[in-house]
Amino acid sequence: MTNPINGKFEMPALPYAASELAPALSAETIEFHYGKHLQTYLNNLNAALPGSAFEGKSLEEIVKTAEGGVFNNAGQFLNHSMYFLQFAAPKANNAPAGMIAEAIARDFGSFEKFQEEFQAKGAGLFGSGWVWLSADASGKLVITQEGNAQNPLTKGLKPLLTFDVWEHAYYIDYRNRRPDYLKALWSIVNWDEVNKRLG
Ligand code: MN
Repeated sequence: MTNPINGKFEMPALPYAASELAPALSAETIEFHYGKHLQTYLNNLNAALPGSAFEGKSLEEIVKTAEGGVFNNAGQFLNHSMYFLQFAAPKANNAPAGMIAEAIARDFGSFEKFQEEFQAKGAGLFGSGWVWLSADASGKLVITQEGNAQNPLTKGLKPLLTFDVWEHAYYIDYRNRRPDYLKALWSIVNWDEVNKRLG
């Protein structure tokens, strides 16, 4: 995610067109959320790094060790990159397959029970933040609520899937209806990408 010539972090290329995630997410939401919010976090991060202790470090290292403004912009750059790269055009009855499907059944009982808990934790997060599915050191799946720019990496977890619950993620398409937004995102999750992250 860095440019080999100038060492700056770069925008992740979207694996879909801005209009392709509708009706779950409109092209306008992608234009603002990816095109403006994520771009701003990236610009702020790249502006803060030269001459700092974090110059030349990987994004993951920066998120694990930085504080304040560098942490906030690095965290938001990582969180949004993972968020936007985990989606694909909507599919009816979109459901996990392979290793992640087995792990979800093992640790939550069923995909439906997992969805219920994930949505409840996303809807119940007070203020701005993210709901995450991660694997712990033993491989067990856990759902966590992370405030503001936080990422499960800082708790020693391996992040796999995330839904952004900052208002800017859903206000254009869903206004105040965060639960409806969370429910709609299941149709666009690319479970192949989640399986890659599980490794
Ligand atoms: Mn966001």
